[in-house]
Amino acid sequence: MPKISLITLGCAKNLVDSEVMLGRLDSAGYQFTASLNEADILIINTCGFIQPARQEAEQAIEQGLKWKKKKSGRLLVVVGCYVQRFSKYLKVRYPQVDLWTGVSSFDRIDELIEKKQDILKQGAFLLNHTTPRVVTTGPHWTYVKISEGCSHRCSFCSIPLIKGSYKSRTINSVVQEVKNLAGLGIREINLVSHDTTYFGRDRRLTHGLIRLIERLLPIQGIEWIRILYGYPEEIDGALLDLMIEDKICRYLDLPFQHASPAILKKMGRSMSGSRALKLIDRIRKKVPGVAIRTSLIVGFPGEGKKEFQELEDFVFRARFEHLGVFCYSPEPGTRATILKDPIAQVEKEKRRQELLLIQQDISKKFYESFAGQDLRVLVEGPDLTRPGLLAARAQFQAPEVDGMTLIEGWSKAWNQLQPAFLNIKIERALTYDLVGKVIND
Ligand code: SF4
Repeated sequence: MPKISLITLGCAKNLVDSEVMLGRLDSAGYQFTASLNEADILIINTCGFIQPARQEAEQAIEQGLKWKKKKSGRLLVVVGCYVQRFSKYLKVRYPQVDLWTGVSSFDRIDELIEKKQDILKQGAFLLNHTTPRVVTTGPHWTYVKISEGCSHRCSFCSIPLIKGSYKSRTINSVVQEVKNLAGLGIREINLVSHDTTYFGRDRRLTHGLIRLIERLLPIQGIEWIRILYGYPEEIDGALLDLMIEDKICRYLDLPFQHASPAILKKMGRSMSGSRALKLIDRIRKKVPGVAIRTSLIVGFPGEGKKEFQELEDFVFRARFEHLGVFCYSPEPGTRATILKDPIAQVEKEKRRQELLLIQQDISKKFYESFAGQDLRVLVEGPDLTRPGLLAARAQFQAPEVDGMTLIEGWSKAWNQLQPAFLNIKIERALTYDLVGKVIND
C-alpha cells in the first residue's frame, strides 16, 4: 500500500478531523510515515478561519507541490476548512493538486483517493463513537469533539459559513467514545467544539453540557475533563456548581473577543467588558483556583483610542491566567465586511503587542505564585525543544495553547514507566512555563 503523510493546520477540531482520516486510512490498510521523503501521498488538512491561517495553508500547498514534483506518481490531497470556503479559487490557483475535499466528506478519504474524486458539498461531517480514529496526541490525553458548526452569528466570524449551524452529537455517542478512549489509556479528555456550552440545544436538551459531563464523570480511567471553547453568556450557576467536582479541570476557556460595548455591538455580541468582569468575579468565587483563558480581537473597525483603552483596562483588571490576541481580518461573506477594514495592519499588530505586554506581567506573577508548591501534573512526554526535560501540564494548563510544566531529571525514568500523572514540586517560574522536580523520586 502507498505510504501517507498528513499535515494538520489550524485548531484542535481540525486535528480530530485528521485523526478521523487516519482512522479510515488505517482501516483501509494504508501505512503512515512522518518522513515526506518516504511518502507517496501527502494530505494537507487546512484551516480557513482567518487570513493568516489561509496564508499558512497556501504556503503548505506550495511546499506540497514542490514535494510532488520531486518524484513522479506522488499524490497531493488538500482538504479542510479553506477548501470548503474557497475551492473555486484554490482549484484555479493550484491546478496541480490531485484531489480536493472540504469538511463534508473527509471521513471517506480512502474512497476519494482510490477514485481520485473531488467531493465538495455543503455540510460538515460529524463523527460518532463508531468512526475509526487514530489518536495522535499524547499517550494519556486527547480531544473529544462533541459538535460541529455554530448557531451564533458573530459578525466577523466565518465558522457558520464553513461548518453550518450547530449540530450536537448524542450524549450516548460521546460517552461511548470516551469509554473507548479510557480503554486505550487516555486519562484527560478535552471537550472541543465551536461552542461547548451550547451542547444539546439543537436537540432540545436543557443543560446539555451538564448532562453530558454527569455521564462522563463515572467513566473509569478518566481523571481530568476539561471544557474548552465556552460562550460567556451561557455560563450559569449550575455549570459552575458542577465544576467543583474533582475530575473537572478548574479551567474555563471563554472567548470574550472585546470589552468595548460599541465594538461588541458591531461584532454581534452582547457581553460588555463590565458584565464580563462581573462574570469572571463570580466564576472565581464559585470555582476557587479556576484558570480562565480568553481570546480577544484587536483592530476591529471602529476601534479608536477610547475603545482600545477599554480593552487594555479590561485585560488589566480581568487578570486572565491565559490570553490569546488576534488581529482582525475581514472575512469574505461575513457581515462585518461592510464596515471595511480601516485600521492598518501595523497598527493592529502594535495593539496586539501592547495587550500581550500587559498579559506578560500578569502571567509571570501568576506562575510565580506556584513556586515551592506541590502539583499533580499530566505528563505528555519528552519536551521536543528542551532536551532532557519532560513536558507536563497542570490542571490550569490546556494542551497546545497554554504554557507547560517542565520536569527536570526524569527523562530516563519516563522512557521506562510512562506514567500518566506525576506529583512534582515547583522549583521556579518562567514567564509562561513552570519548572519542577518529581517528589519522592
Ligand atoms: S460564537 Fe465563536 S464560532 Fe460562533 S460565530 Fe461567534 S466567534 Fe464564530
